[in-house]
Amino acid sequence: DGRRWAGRPGVAAVQREGQADPARIRTRFPPEPNGFLHIGHAKSICLNFELAADYAGRCHLRFDDTNPEKENQEYVDAIIDSVRWLGFDWQFDDGECNLYYASDYFETFYQIALKLIEAGHAYVDSQTGDQIRENRGTLTEPGRNSPFRDRPVAESLQLFREMREGKHPEGAMVLRAKIDMASPNINLRDPILYRIRLAHHHRTGDAWPIYPMYDYAHPLEDALERITHSLCTLEFEDHRPLYDWLLARVAETGLLDAPLPRQIEFARMNLTYTITSKRKLKALVDEGIVTGWDDPRMTTIAGLRRRGYSPASIRLFCERAGVSKANQLIDMAVLEQTVREVLDPTVNRLHVITDPIRLVIDNMDPAERIACSAPRHPHHPEWGQRSFELSRELWIEREDFAETTPKGFFRLTPGQLVRLRHGFVVRCTGVDRDENGEILQVHCEYLPDTRSGTPGADSVKVKGNIHWVSASDAVPVELRIFAPLFLDAQPDAGGQDPLANINPDSKVVRTGYAEPEIREARPEQQFQFERQGYYVADRYDHTADRPVFNRVTTLKDSFGK
Ligand code: ATP
Ligand code: MG
Ligand code: MG
Repeated sequence: DGRRWAGRPGVAAVQREGQADPARIRTRFPPEPNGFLHIGHAKSICLNFELAADYAGRCHLRFDDTNPEKENQEYVDAIIDSVRWLGFDWQFDDGECNLYYASDYFETFYQIALKLIEAGHAYVDSQTGDQIRENRGTLTEPGRNSPFRDRPVAESLQLFREMREGKHPEGAMVLRAKIDMASPNINLRDPILYRIRLAHHHRTGDAWPIYPMYDYAHPLEDALERITHSLCTLEFEDHRPLYDWLLARVAETGLLDAPLPRQIEFARMNLTYTITSKRKLKALVDEGIVTGWDDPRMTTIAGLRRRGYSPASIRLFCERAGVSKANQLIDMAVLEQTVREVLDPTVNRLHVITDPIRLVIDNMDPAERIACSAPRHPHHPEWGQRSFELSRELWIEREDFAETTPKGFFRLTPGQLVRLRHGFVVRCTGVDRDENGEILQVHCEYLPDTRSGTPGADSVKVKGNIHWVSASDAVPVELRIFAPLFLDAQPDAGGQDPLANINPDSKVVRTGYAEPEIREARPEQQFQFERQGYYVADRYDHTADRPVFNRVTTLKDSFGK
């Protein structure tokens, strides 16, 4: 009888026809597949999926794929990957699968539009785009009715069918809702519902020469899927009357059943030192400023993943950001602090020298090796020990030696005693220089009775404690060290071009030396490099033979310093 959509692809309401809906509430996360998801989307994903889970409800992943020119399958795949990786799912044991595409509703949308025209709620407008814009009015001035507003229903029906058949060129006409050209809310001044686009769609191909507008498609998608709470960002607040108007009119035609979904707005989340807009992030990719959407400097979900953020750290961050009606600008330091808190209790420790200089222990024999070990985690003895050796030549951090020492410098300087972590106390004896005065290597002597973990360890008091790697068993590693991509905390504030604000030093690549256990690292495994920071084995480039690590973040907040 035309009341239901049985047999039409993707219409959930039909699939559940006659059954009680198992979900008490239904939410949806509705990305447009025109780019990779970013940290702002993560907030919306967490909110929608967690809210549904909290109330024994369900959350739909729905692709809002109604703008064929900008969308593609690569983005669909990347979005699915990101939402899954964050830990959310749309498939249930009872067989329900809540993965939807707006494009699956194109026929349904079209049928509903015909009904709206028949009921006198929509008309085909043959004005040009410029005329429509001019006649829309302003905030202070009402709009003017189109000369086509009162064309007979039969004529609008005929023209709309011709639009659908591809008989008219782009821009020749549009379908508009008939609401009120004098409304103080400009969104209600006969908004456009459909336009002609002779564009290829990544899923429907060339089947459709007309495409629905967001304000038409979105409420219908929500209603067809029986969404109860349609959460969106604040800029859609002024669209809510249109959302309600449209669903009420369609319900009157008998094509939708109550209860109808409700739109609820919350604030966008923004983060300092980055941008949360797919369009602007795409410009960074297109201009070659980053290596791709998943460059570790990008605050896309894929970029954060490659940078070493765990799903738990992103979810915790979103939870802390909370939900509000006031627009949020969160400090990047908060995101970094969250990942530190999540990684600190969960990741193994390693010694890695990031800026190497040689230390020679003059009272050791070149062939001598002393076996040393250290806990994989200071609070998890059950994780066991890592083993490495002490030999005559070691690598230490360049900054752990200084000849003229600032006050409070407890590291190596001639005459000073320092502990080699998980090893022995050494006394610095001097340095070798090349002809230009550059330091070639540092010399010291070790105190054999001071081995860490033995009764003699504390016999000599030292204030400094430095990490080291033996040259005899060191593994070279590529270290990728990142700084914010932008110089300005609000790179796109006040309409400025974020591309004019790029930090030229956002990526530094170095060769470091690591203790042998680094060979066990798997891609995407995070570590704390003692005294240096949190690092992750690169998802794509890391191998056991050629270790490549990205710095997730420093050990302490150093943001903007
Ligand atoms: P962009 O401008 O980056 O493309 P968008 O809002 O147009 O963002 P969509 O793909 O339409 O991107 O977004 C999907 C969902 O994510 C929407 O429901 C939107 O409200 C939400 N969302 C997008 N950006 C943010 C953000 N910064 N904070 C919170 N939610 C966001
Ligand atoms: Mg959008
Ligand atoms: Mg957008």
